[in-house]
Amino acid sequence: MHSEWMLAGGTAGAAIGCAAWAVRGRASQVFGRSVWRGSDNRPRLALTFDDGPSFWTAALLDLLGEWGAKASFFQIGEAARRHPELARRVSDEGHEIGNHTLSHAALYAKTPSGVYGEVAGCQSVLEEIHGCAPRWFRAPYGCRWFGLRRAQRDLDLTGVMWSCLGLDWKLPASRVANRVVAAAGNGAIVCLHDGRAGRPDADCRATVDAVRLILPALRERQFELVTVSEVLA
Ligand SMILES: [Zn+2]
Repeated sequence: MHSEWMLAGGTAGAAIGCAAWAVRGRASQVFGRSVWRGSDNRPRLALTFDDGPSFWTAALLDLLGEWGAKASFFQIGEAARRHPELARRVSDEGHEIGNHTLSHAALYAKTPSGVYGEVAGCQSVLEEIHGCAPRWFRAPYGCRWFGLRRAQRDLDLTGVMWSCLGLDWKLPASRVANRVVAAAGNGAIVCLHDGRAGRPDADCRATVDAVRLILPALRERQFELVTVSEVLA
């Protein structure tokens, strides 16, 4: 049986709170192995970008390259298939690739086999484009669901949440940058976006402008910017 079902007990309110934590809590392991911050013994942190690749990915890669920073990009399978060269440029420049599902579906609206298909479908698109299979998975909207534990186990994926959410899809660049710089610390994992839920026409200018402010500010504070794999090492 699914260990995911072991949520029962207590009052209805407590059960609902518990279920919400299981689905969205950054430290929840209920729907599969998951991490949300790295080791705190060195001044290094991981920027992560979800929902790409998109038109805006190139500008972010230019900025990261300028500052000698590495990051992790959780790509949507369908977006990578739409922009395979852009997707590949990310890994070619030494950044890490993660799985962000095939279509950016809300997993809680899927059956367990539908969840499996979203994760496995993305994994095969990314493996074909990048030449190796991702090790990291980020759930769309941070919502894990039934079927994910088996998908992660079969595909050897570990979930990655975050210690800081940049809110770059709704805040102006300066406020995004302030949030990220204020939350910076050893082992932080920062969630930003180089696309918007797979919408091809999305405007990610705020993210690019925020990163232009974030990189020098973190460098001044002596942080090394590394991939998820490195910040967890
Ligand atoms: Zn997303």
